[in-house]
Amino acid sequence: MKDLKLAGLDSERSIIEVDGVKIGGEEIILMGGPCAVESSIQMQESAASVKKAGGKILRGGVFKPRTSPYSFQGLGLEGVNYMVQAAKEHGLLCVTEVVDTRSLDLVVDKVDLLQIGARNMQNFELLKLAGKVDKPIILKRGLSATIEEWLLAAEYILSAGNPRVILCERGIRTFEPSTRNTLDVSAVGVAKELSHLPVIVDPSHAAGRRDLISSLAKAAIAAGADGLLIEMHPNPDEAVSDGPQSLTPEQFLALARELGGVARSVRRAFDMGTGDSLEALRSQIDKIDRDIIEGLAERMQIVRKLSDQKRLDRVKDVSREKEIIQRLMTLAEELNLPSDLIKKIYPLIFEYGVQTQIKSKLQDEKIDSSFYNLGSK
Ligand code: PEP
Ligand code: MN
Repeated sequence: MKDLKLAGLDSERSIIEVDGVKIGGEEIILMGGPCAVESSIQMQESAASVKKAGGKILRGGVFKPRTSPYSFQGLGLEGVNYMVQAAKEHGLLCVTEVVDTRSLDLVVDKVDLLQIGARNMQNFELLKLAGKVDKPIILKRGLSATIEEWLLAAEYILSAGNPRVILCERGIRTFEPSTRNTLDVSAVGVAKELSHLPVIVDPSHAAGRRDLISSLAKAAIAAGADGLLIEMHPNPDEAVSDGPQSLTPEQFLALARELGGVARSVRRAFDMGTGDSLEALRSQIDKIDRDIIEGLAERMQIVRKLSDQKRLDRVKDVSREKEIIQRLMTLAEELNLPSDLIKKIYPLIFEYGVQTQIKSKLQDEKIDSSFYNLGSK
């Protein structure tokens, strides 16, 4: 794609680091909070929930670009202060949307990241201003913007001098009325193929309804997203904006608990939070135990299939077993697990595998010979 002089992918992917939080690295970063900042208590509760879920960044809009001029327009500076305070007290970073020079100047020294919303993706003067600040910019994809237009908007920020841009897919306008927008899941892959910039997904503005957020968030991770930006409100029914698409804190936490497994399945990391209570920690362990057993069951099934391709005297392959153990011991060390554990567990797994293969071979032979006997009568 021409003109992606700085945004185009040549060799390495960019990892954008903000106070120790790395976006675009191995870990998928969760960001959450209400559409609009409404009060100090609302932000305190939101921050506590984001933290508990393992989120790293608190969101909240204070300058709201609303479709109707009569809708709530945001609390401005007062709102930023509520968010900044809540984020600080809970050890989170925070992000808010800027819409023009004035709003940018008001918040730039207070928040950790700035957001440029879908409606401003091609506000070129704003993009140039964002290129002059020393804060990462989350650049949402415009309502009807092509991926090329979105990447060129990022190029504006980069070429004005700010190298820290995070792309955010948030659904595009299509002919389909059953969701607010249509989440373009493939845009994640396309943007990452064309650009080195991290790509996150906002399933909330895509769906416009909370019942779809969980599945869209999982789809985003599977598609390669580097982070998720999700609307959550302590009391969505009372929210001044985007209540129907906002998760409750409980739903947000339950979703975060599920995302770890999805992240693992695509070899990414996901912080499932401290969850501090014994109950929360136990539920994380239960989930991981389930994944372990499901993984073992899947392994056994493959082992059974393997037996079709082996002779009975070749079922046990000592050199392959040694090679597997060696490889897993190295991995265990990398992951800070005692490598002894592998030496203890794996011989047992191999043993069951061999027994299963022998049983299934003997069974096949029995069937073959009884078939033969029948035929020879
Ligand atoms: C928002 O994040 O609150 C928002 C207005 O999003 P978008 O610009 O994607 O509509
Ligand atoms: Mn919103």
